[in-house]
Amino acid sequence: MSNKSKALVLFSGGLDSILAVKLLKEQKIDVTGICFTSYFFDSSDIANKWANKLNIRLKICDISEEMLKIIKNPVYGYGKNMNPCIDCKILMMKKAKKFLWKGTKKSEWIYQKKFLATGEVLGERPFSQNRNALELIEKKSGVESYLLRPLSAKLLKETIPEKEKWIDREKLKDFQGRSRKRQIALAVKFNIKNYPTPAGGCLLTDPSFSVRVRELIKKWPNCNIDDIALLKVGRHFWEGGIKIIVGRNEDENIMIEKLKRKGDIILKPRTFKGPTILIRRKEKELDSEELLKSLKMAKNLMIRYSSQLSS
Ligand code: SF4
Repeated sequence: MSNKSKALVLFSGGLDSILAVKLLKEQKIDVTGICFTSYFFDSSDIANKWANKLNIRLKICDISEEMLKIIKNPVYGYGKNMNPCIDCKILMMKKAKKFLWKGTKKSEWIYQKKFLATGEVLGERPFSQNRNALELIEKKSGVESYLLRPLSAKLLKETIPEKEKWIDREKLKDFQGRSRKRQIALAVKFNIKNYPTPAGGCLLTDPSFSVRVRELIKKWPNCNIDDIALLKVGRHFWEGGIKIIVGRNEDENIMIEKLKRKGDIILKPRTFKGPTILIRRKEKELDSEELLKSLKMAKNLMIRYSSQLSS
């Protein structure tokens, strides 16, 4: 069996995670990437592309259901929008830990020379990457001392991989703050080109999507992934507890029909070109008066937006 140290790196395919992999590989660490996807974020295509370029194995792990639970009630709150980054990171670390150590006790980890790593940079994101948040994430996910952040390692507490000399701390970095200059310089040194632009990617950091999520959770606390799926498409209206979604173009009309679930009502104009409309209500709101009101509202919306439908 190889005596090489092994790292599982949280890998989105963004520049920070690419650089983290490069710094580990430079020190002959055997690297596997893990890319988390959910209804709210999915960079698996980019991650796959870069995993191939970097010649590392990649696991893809969907956490949509867990994310939905977290969004409804995050222990550590939200960032600027509906992004519960600290809870989200704790979840990812816990999942990654399971993959890496597969049932072994923490006391045995050291013999296996395995650890986790991320491309996080101290102070890059004020909510989730300040020193307290980084330490909290480690502690709550149970990966303390086994989580290496190669881009900021020299500014953080020494981890087991460094103490045990699986990796040379001196060759790691001391990046800090929001400026990307040092990452870009390191990318040049490693000859990494055409890497994806930073941030973006997570719908929960988008202000208008966040408004929709907040409203949905408030009106339907038991909303599920099918309800969340509606949020990406169309114009949104409420009539009491009933949700009405209006297609903005032909593609959205088709998408809205595909998103229809049992109990939903679909309305389509027969004699003119106009939006497809979906009406969804939850069981307890099968109030016929409210439903009639929502049908009336949908009819008005269909007329209002029929001339504005773009092809
Ligand atoms: S930005 Fe989105 S994916 Fe990233 S940590 Fe925050 S909630 Fe999770």
